[in-house]
Amino acid sequence: MDSLQTFLDKVRAKNPNENEFLQAVEAVSSSLFPFIEQHPKYQRHKLLERMTEPERVVIFRVPWVNSKDEIEINRGYRVQMNSAIGPYKGGLRFRSSVTLSVLKFLAFEQTFKNSLTGLPMGGAKGGSDFDSKGRPDSEIMRFCQSFMTELCRYIGPDRDVPAGDIGVGGREIGYLFGQYKRLKGEFNGMLTGKGESFSGSLIRPEATGYGLVYFAEEMLKTRKEKLQGKTVTVSGSGNVAQYTVEKCLEYGAKVVTLSDSGGFVYDPKGIGKEKLQYIMNLKNGLRGSVREYAKKFDCDFVEGEHPWKIKCDIALPCATENELNAEDAKTLIANGCRCVAEGANMPSASEAIALFKESDILFGPGKAANAGGVAVSGLEMSQNSLRYSWSREEVDDRLKKIMKNIHEICVQYGKGENGYIDYKKGANIGGFVKVADAMIAQGIV
Ligand code: NDP
Repeated sequence: MDSLQTFLDKVRAKNPNENEFLQAVEAVSSSLFPFIEQHPKYQRHKLLERMTEPERVVIFRVPWVNSKDEIEINRGYRVQMNSAIGPYKGGLRFRSSVTLSVLKFLAFEQTFKNSLTGLPMGGAKGGSDFDSKGRPDSEIMRFCQSFMTELCRYIGPDRDVPAGDIGVGGREIGYLFGQYKRLKGEFNGMLTGKGESFSGSLIRPEATGYGLVYFAEEMLKTRKEKLQGKTVTVSGSGNVAQYTVEKCLEYGAKVVTLSDSGGFVYDPKGIGKEKLQYIMNLKNGLRGSVREYAKKFDCDFVEGEHPWKIKCDIALPCATENELNAEDAKTLIANGCRCVAEGANMPSASEAIALFKESDILFGPGKAANAGGVAVSGLEMSQNSLRYSWSREEVDDRLKKIMKNIHEICVQYGKGENGYIDYKKGANIGGFVKVADAMIAQGIV
């Protein structure tokens, strides 16, 4: 077996300039190497070498005509990373910053995350460098139709089941679904995050944010604490952030920040139900700026910054990757923050995570803490196969159980002799074992 350094050098050489992908591989393999060295059955199968090589990557042209009758050309991707434990599953991201590296990092992380949910889902991710901001609905629909015209060759309910991610919400999923149905003449569960009226699952829009809060509450319990009465900073103001705030409010916490790509708002009085409704109206659809919130409710807007300077007990990054660096971690620690749980994928830099561990701060990595979204996507697949719908309460109950179970897996594999729970290590090993066992059982494929 290669050393960790040799393994990483080989991955770097094979994937030059794919910084986000390399960052994710390094973070995961540094937890996994000691575990693999202790378990000879995993050593000779070159599992990590195979897991870091996507089973398939599809890159395609997405031509469409905008409202000014001009031709626009975007690039579409689907990274099918690993299908050892189920059909490929993972969201679609539409944003100008989408690259192959970003999607490979997300698909790699997704493989472990999906395994942690206990549901039969492989790992994938896809998307395009298309940005819907400021575009009329008709353009978004034409783009989605062109994107699906190509993607439909590679997906299906038993093959690969995409969902939403940044820039892809209920509206986009509706347009993508409509086009697939038209092209294939089939009404099936090839996408999740669908509208309730066409076989979507209840609680899917809420699932990532709610699941994050359920997970954070489990983390706090290990220190005999709870969310009630705590001050929370949240970044982002999209799907994950909105439902994170909603559930925090239900648990009696006070949320004082939200952010977007322009900066953050600090509302020391707390973002209550009505203010949250204002954010939902502002962000969903026309995607306005949180600056408007600051004007409306007379509080501070800090341009171009993330909210980590604001004093809090709990920080929940819910915007995007690499939005919390080592300096931010130092400030959070100095200000008395006791728990960080990731709603976004890889928002914290490796150095920040190391500082949290050194300072004995609870740190929940995205692949565990934000797995609620894909978990309910998995439940949507089950309901579609059954041609049946579960009630809100039934889905929410299952989501809670799944998040609790993921927490237990993290404790099982991550609790050290000194009692500190290394959730990152626990999630990486816990996610790896099931996929690795399935890969060994299935031979060299
Ligand atoms: P949305 O598109 O609904 O919201 C994204 C939010 O992040 C927006 O507020 C956006 O600001 C902000 N944002 C995006 N890029 C940046 C940036 N570079 N700097 C600062 N803010 C930024 O996406 P989601 O809420 O669905 O996704 C958020 C995160 O959660 C992503 O990391 C995603 O991968 C992850 N995730 C999502 C899941 C889901 O179910 N949706 C499941 C698991 C993880 P603006 O409005 O200005 O664009």
